[in-house]
Amino acid sequence: MKDENSVLKAIPERLLAWYDRCARKLPWRENRDPYRIWISEIMLQQTRVEAVKEYYTRFLAAFPDVFSLANAPEEQVLKLWEGLGYYSRARNLQKAARVVAEECEGRFPRSAAELSRLPGIGSYTAGAISSIAFDCREAAVDGNVLRVAARLLASGDNVSRQAVKNEVAEQIRAVIPERAGDFNQSLMELGATVCLPNGEPLCGECPLAEVCEGRKQGIAAELPVKIQKKERTAEQKTVFILLWNGYAAFRKRPEKGLLAGMWEFPNIPGALTREQAIRQLEEWGLALLDLSQTAPAKHIFTHREWHMSGWLAHVEPRGSAADFLWAGREQTERELTVPSAFAAFTKILRREWDNAPRRE
Ligand code: SF4
Repeated sequence: MKDENSVLKAIPERLLAWYDRCARKLPWRENRDPYRIWISEIMLQQTRVEAVKEYYTRFLAAFPDVFSLANAPEEQVLKLWEGLGYYSRARNLQKAARVVAEECEGRFPRSAAELSRLPGIGSYTAGAISSIAFDCREAAVDGNVLRVAARLLASGDNVSRQAVKNEVAEQIRAVIPERAGDFNQSLMELGATVCLPNGEPLCGECPLAEVCEGRKQGIAAELPVKIQKKERTAEQKTVFILLWNGYAAFRKRPEKGLLAGMWEFPNIPGALTREQAIRQLEEWGLALLDLSQTAPAKHIFTHREWHMSGWLAHVEPRGSAADFLWAGREQTERELTVPSAFAAFTKILRREWDNAPRRE
């Protein structure tokens, strides 16, 4: 990121002049009524401007102010929301309307901090209402603004990270001019109509082209960098600590994939009951001498979690027993790499060895 202060300081004047000339006429821009601005911001979450217009007009006709929305039957609110999806938005809208009507005499708080205490209002929406309705110098950083900022600054930071979003909000807050609401809207407008997503910025039409580092460096179309953190998948496993005459059973993990080539306690997917565990031991060709359940354990990898239940079994292999490596304590500690994902079970095994006579 290069000299972000000088780049960002250069944008308010240029952007506001452009906004005054080119802003789209939208129904929620007719006046600065915080109620109307709030409704539009909630409707615009996850929904395109064109799709929102009609809903907005109908909604405002049915509920022209915060009291009418607060007092309406919920079914009527949901009906007018039908087709917009994400119905929790509509329910939160009415909850927040009731708070404003009953606790604030119908007046919306001015500060983003107070606004964000209302149901359904996050930091972006709070900043948008506070700045657009009251010209408070609050940043309102949505996906459009993140994209514009990343390109202006030629920043390769991952904008999916909350820390990066916070930093962008701070940088923008530092240059917000008096016309805070118009400035925030001009940034969003630029993102929506000129600095378009998916590698298609219309730099030739952009009022910020001469200060834009991303354009100058020829990398604007590749920005912003968005690396979504993958959801972790949870896997349930049953881990067996199998002991035979002081030797413990291990098997080698596949040579490719997670913990490739490392040694592990025999384990299988799912959480096995005692009966299922006994059947599993039989399948492995092991005669059972004693069986007790261990405490469960959990291990978190980057993209998955293992939730493990465990059984400690003293066994005796039969002729056709599964092909495990039976290792004594010294060999285990000297030669086998057992991943820390199994640390809880390794600890139990050590305790067993501590309490048993050495046999190696
Ligand atoms: Fe976006 Fe291009 Fe304008 Fe830079 S010059 S802000 S990349 S449209």
